[in-house]
This record gives sequence, structure tokens and C-alpha cells, in this order.
Amino acid sequence: MSFSDLGLLPELLRAVADKGYDTPSPIQVQAIPAVLAGRDVLAGAQTGTGKTAGFVLPILQRLAADQAHGTSRAPRALVLTPTRELAAQVAQSARDYGKYMQLRTYQVFGGVNINPQITALRGGCDILVATPGRLLDLSQQRVADLSKVQVLVLDEADRMLDMGFINDIRKIIKLLPQKRQNLLFSATYSDDIRGLAERLLHDPLSIQVAPRNAPIELVEQRAYRVQKEQKRHLLVHLIQEGAWRQVLIFTRTKHGANRLAQQLEGAGIQSAAIHGNKSQAARVKALDLFKRGQITALVATEVAARGLDIKELPQVVNYELPNVPEDYVHRIGRTGRAGAAGEAISLVSADETTYLRDIERVLRRAIPVVQTPVFKIVETAPPAASRSDRAPNRTPGGGGGHHGGGGGGHHGGGGGHRTGGRDSRRGAGGGSSGTRSYGQQRGRSR
Ligand code: AMP
Repeated sequence: MSFSDLGLLPELLRAVADKGYDTPSPIQVQAIPAVLAGRDVLAGAQTGTGKTAGFVLPILQRLAADQAHGTSRAPRALVLTPTRELAAQVAQSARDYGKYMQLRTYQVFGGVNINPQITALRGGCDILVATPGRLLDLSQQRVADLSKVQVLVLDEADRMLDMGFINDIRKIIKLLPQKRQNLLFSATYSDDIRGLAERLLHDPLSIQVAPRNAPIELVEQRAYRVQKEQKRHLLVHLIQEGAWRQVLIFTRTKHGANRLAQQLEGAGIQSAAIHGNKSQAARVKALDLFKRGQITALVATEVAARGLDIKELPQVVNYELPNVPEDYVHRIGRTGRAGAAGEAISLVSADETTYLRDIERVLRRAIPVVQTPVFKIVETAPPAASRSDRAPNRTPGGGGGHHGGGGGGHHGGGGGHRTGGRDSRRGAGGGSSGTRSYGQQRGRSR
């Protein structure tokens, strides 16, 4: 099966060839002809399966073929996504795949100034990719005219419901023409998703594709019990001892992601944080460095990591457990390489025990809690301190802090109790955690 067998226009085939894809993925094989034929689709597919091209390519083709819209530039396709990252990514895909066509794609999402979006929308577009809340704002301000939408896509519908967008989605649907094509993509099926699908879709083609990532059975999961404030020391130990080269680390907050990236940097582990407060350019750059192996650790919030094309990683760390168990499943699905096992490691503090139980209930299995290894506490100066001298505590066992096993600062056995004082070099210029961003690479060879 090749892309040309799917009935796509030459302009799209060219764009696909430019991307370097030679074979359509299973979801593309099924979804593209169905969407081209105007059918509704219900697809169970995660990020990584090629789902975006599965709906973007046929939508571009349908819009290109539809000349009836005259001079109106009100959007004819609407894609709703849960996050701005996913919105930006889908819109970029539409621009990439549509680069040989005269169609315009625009994205709108919250958390940024609305005015440029108002200006851009007034200029019109063919495909609008939006997060629900901001779209409603724009519609209430009469800037987004949804009366010409012929195709509605709900991308990561499960996630949108998790994030409480159901009412916004309902309101948006009321603004759309009755007669339209509907496509619903969801990684998981809850009763809510089924209910939404029943209300929304007419005689849909149901597609279920296996995630491209390793199935969960292939992911080696383990948890360490550790005190909250000692997690970073354990993490440094795990990364250094395991000689990890590419680890995706999840934190609960943006601030926590920044701080941890800085702390890891302070410990000599090249790191970047990726979250909603970073500019798109910064996120793209961080991701690129990570994928190319130029940074070891990418610290991400759940929402920022959603929709990002990061997968097949050897290690994923839950620095904090998610309070939504499904997020755990999604996170650890990022590991695994070509069928080989990946590792999903969770650092669990006492206050997270309930989260762990909830996750185990969803997984229907226990996550092995393994003996916490002996690790050192190597304090780095807080970011505000001088960052001129950062070398000393970069070497494992390089003298900073307490060493486990030998008395003071012994950690392990599940509790990670500190038995000694703080690192005496703290604040003494040794190993500032600094504020280095991923863009400022050290001249260290890897
Ligand atoms: P998605 O599941 O849509 O987020 O896509 C996951 C990744 O697969 C993206 O990086 C796409 O660019 C890539 N991709 C999509 N379709 C194909 C294909 N047929 N062959 C190779 N890569 C693809």
C-alpha cells in the first residue's frame, strides 16, 4: 500500500514525499479513503500513530475540491484540540501537507493575547485549529464565524473531556451547521466518549489502531519510595548510575519543570524544560535538541508533552505521579524501542500513595516498588546564586554532599532519610544550578 493508492491529489502526494513518508500508517490507510468519501469516523488512536495526517490530508483534499464557498473565508474545517501544543502541531501539519495548495490554516488557543488572533481570523482561513475556550471567546466576539464549517474534528477527545471542555464543545457544536462531517479521535474510550460519539457521529467508520509505542506489557515499570525533597538527588543518581542518555521526566507544574531542569543542569546533566509558558520556538528547539541527543533530560509538564512527537524513549520518569491515572498510561507509553522494553520509573513520595493506588487500579496490576538505591545528596546553589562556577559537583562521587552507604546522608531502603546535615559547600560557589537554558550548550562532549 502506498499513499498514491489512497486517492490523494498529486499536490498532497508531493508534500507527503517531501516529509519522507513512504508508506501510510494503518490509521491513514483506513481513515483517508473514508474521510475523502465524506464519512464520519470514530478512531481510537494515540499520538504517534500518524492520526494527524489521517485527517488533515483528506480534509485538505475535500476543501480544495470544494469551490462552492465563493469568496467567503470563514473556516470550512474546524479541528478542536485540548492543548495549544497540539493545536500548533496540527496546524503546522496542515500547512506542511497543504504547502502546494492555496489553503490557509490558522490556530487559536488561550493563554496568549487574543488580539493577534482576532486580526488573523479577520483575514480568513480555510482550516481553523482551536482549543475550545478561546474559540468560544472569539465566536462570542463575532470574530470566528463557524457557520461555514463542513468538517469538525475532535482531536484527543478523551483529553478534552478530562480537561473539562465538554460544555464548551457542546456550545461550539451548536454554532456549526447541522449538516457536516464529524471525525472523533480518542486514545481511550470512556462512557463519556462513547456518549459524545453517539450524539455526534452518523454511521461512523470505526477504526482502532494499536499504539505505535510499545504495549504497556512491554514497559518495565518500577517505583521508588523517596521523600519529596530528595527526589532530585535520587533522579541524578539514577541518570548518572544508569548512564541514561535520553530521559523524559514529567513534573506536575511548570515551575517545577523549570526548577528541576535547572537542578539537573547544576548536577551536570544537560536538561531543558518544556511547558506552556515557553514560547513555541523554545519548545521546538528543546525538543529538537532532545531528539538529537544533545540534551539528556527533557523535563515536561503533562499538558506540554501531550501531542508532542516524543516517543520510543528508553526511560520515562514520573517525577511526580499524575493525579489522573490515564495520564500515567499515556506517559509510560512513550517508552519502548522497536518492541524492546522501555523503563518507566516513578518517584513516589508519601503524599502520592493514593495516586499510586489509583494508577494500579486502572492498570489492574501492581507497580513494583523496588529498593531505593543509596544516593548522594549533592546540593547546588539556588538559581539566584552565582552561576559562574558550576564544575565541582558534576563528577559522580566528586566530593559534594553526603555519600550514601558510609554514614551521613545514607539513603535507601524506601525512605531516603537524611541522617546528616546539608552539603557544606552549599552556596560556596560549588555547582550553581544556574539558569542555563538549553540554548547555551556547554562545550562538553558526549
Ligand atoms: P501523529 O500520530 O499524527 O502525531 O504523528 C506521529 C508522527 O508520525 C509525526 O511525526 C508524523 O510526522 C509522523 N508520520 C505520520 N505519518 C507517517 C507515515 N506515513 N510515515 C512515517 N511517519 C509518519
